[in-house]
Amino acid sequence: METHYEVLGVAKDAPVSIIKQRFQQLIIEHHPDKRNNLPLSTSDQDYAHRILQAWAVLRNEEKRKLYDHELEVATQRQKVTINADVDLDDMEYDESNRIFSLICRCSGSYVISEEDLEQGNDVICCDNCSLRIRVLYDIIDDDDDE
Ligand SMILES: [Zn+2]
Repeated sequence: METHYEVLGVAKDAPVSIIKQRFQQLIIEHHPDKRNNLPLSTSDQDYAHRILQAWAVLRNEEKRKLYDHELEVATQRQKVTINADVDLDDMEYDESNRIFSLICRCSGSYVISEEDLEQGNDVICCDNCSLRIRVLYDIIDDDDDE
């Protein structure tokens, strides 16, 4: 399932002016009403629909915020395969920056800030490979099957 950002091909933090430009460009290419005589495939209609849907959300600041949040939650729940659970106590704490870090087996690193944790984000992606870990804090999980 593509995100609204992927549908429009824009960055997640793109300003609305850029998103608008991109939307206008795409809708001209794909909207059924804007295509003269060209036969429309189902996928074109489908795509035009998705472009419109994406724009309807991203043009509105409130809706976009809500969507971003949903996206974050969905990303964590569905797409993420957790490779390991790591106890927060086992991570290195950088007091001046208030971040926790851990070296990945690929020698990349996992970094998470206290702020992330406070917001309930407990999954960290390695900055170098596709591995992910979940940080365990407050409640310590006993069934560690590493
Ligand atoms: Zn890694």
